[in-house]
Amino acid sequence: MSGETLAFACRCGSLRGEITDVSPAAYTNILCHCADCRSAYTHLGLADPEKVGILQTTQDRIKITEGGEALQVFRLSGRGALRWYASCCDTPLFYTPLKARAVHVGVNTDRLDTPDALTPPMSEAYIPTADGKTRHKGVGRMVTRMVTRMAAKNLNGEWRDTPFFDDSGAPALPPQVLTREERAAALMGVRKGA
Ligand SMILES: [Zn+2]
Ligand SMILES: [Zn+2]
Repeated sequence: MSGETLAFACRCGSLRGEITDVSPAAYTNILCHCADCRSAYTHLGLADPEKVGILQTTQDRIKITEGGEALQVFRLSGRGALRWYASCCDTPLFYTPLKARAVHVGVNTDRLDTPDALTPPMSEAYIPTADGKTRHKGVGRMVTRMVTRMAAKNLNGEWRDTPFFDDSGAPALPPQVLTREERAAALMGVRKGA
């Protein structure tokens, strides 16, 4: 296999890493407007980004090369995905499902050194509409690509190659689950209808 390497870093630059072997076939570039992706920012004290650029790929491509001891994880609720961040400067970095075998990871593209190197976003989720609802663009393709990647990595056992889970499939760090108050405070920072 061959492909590019994309570098990422937290805001202060202490935690660094790379996404290896990322040919355009190996990832899906999306934009997500959902309150969960945005409240991962507001929970950490950052401004509401209104939409979050996410590179979806498989966890075996993620290598943390420096400052890995700053990696921490929270969940917005007891049913929420794992939201991984750099605690040195409270920068949201990744989200993963709860199960290691899902192999899926979303990398926040605002942390890439060269976000312009990506192919344009293929799908857009939870776009607010004028009537207060949301709509999606190209989400079917996004899901198909995610499921195809998952099937391949489970077939050949590569799902174990991940910085986010241990060999038993448990999260590498114990996730902090936000209290209802913390969750409400994070949502307060998310602008409605934006
Ligand atoms: Zn940092
Ligand atoms: Zn989202």
